[in-house]
Amino acid sequence: MKATLSLGRIAGVRVGLHWSVLGIVAILVSLALARWPVMVPGYSWVAYAVAAVTTAVLFVGSLLAHELAHAVVARREDVDVGAITLWLLGGVAQLRGDATTPAAALRIAVVGPAMSLALAVVFGLISLPFAGGDGGMLVAVTFGYLGVINLVLAVFNLIPAAPLDGGRILRAALWHWRGDRDKAAVWSARAGRVFGIGLIALGAVWLFVGAGADGLWWILIGLFIVTVAGAEEQQATLSGSLRNRPAGDHHAAGRRVPAR
Ligand SMILES: [Zn+2]
Repeated sequence: MKATLSLGRIAGVRVGLHWSVLGIVAILVSLALARWPVMVPGYSWVAYAVAAVTTAVLFVGSLLAHELAHAVVARREDVDVGAITLWLLGGVAQLRGDATTPAAALRIAVVGPAMSLALAVVFGLISLPFAGGDGGMLVAVTFGYLGVINLVLAVFNLIPAAPLDGGRILRAALWHWRGDRDKAAVWSARAGRVFGIGLIALGAVWLFVGAGADGLWWILIGLFIVTVAGAEEQQATLSGSLRNRPAGDHHAAGRRVPAR
């Protein structure tokens, strides 16, 4: 995915925004503008607008922090890092190449959800002192919500299905236990396909029973996971068959680590 807008380098990693990241901003801003005047009434519309935009910007910043954590640890493990791109479904850190050991692969995968979890705690702690009332409730709700969505992001990413971080963790574990990197990648990609198909089915049922447009979102995420997992399975299968050729010499192609 090509970034529409470059943000330059952060911690030495190229960072860019794809135009579709505006989708996240639009969803969060409209959600906040719809719910907060009901949840915490009595503020001016300017205050609600500032709170809504703050939520969207800090959430996109949270996605970036998650991806930067992957990128920085990957580089420390001698994995070449391309660019980080933020888009509609989160962030993508392009890792060119692969970790040399299962332990290194585990560290690269686990640090993203760990960052999201840490952010959830930080936002929660910021929100707490404002929760006592006396005009601070809007701040409490804003940061409390940021804490919750970072927690959801951490937990969702830990589902053991590639290309989610949990899928990378599964791959590292299988690689460690069975000693075969490519087979481990194939199994975690298959888990990804099953999970993605499950999400699509769930989204379809959701739409069918008229439970709301959220179903479309699940279908979109499911389609993305199925597509990337399918490509990764193919790549791992190819990589494995090349490796097994007598004079086989190869390099793993770029791997992608989406945030959701
Ligand atoms: Zn991640």
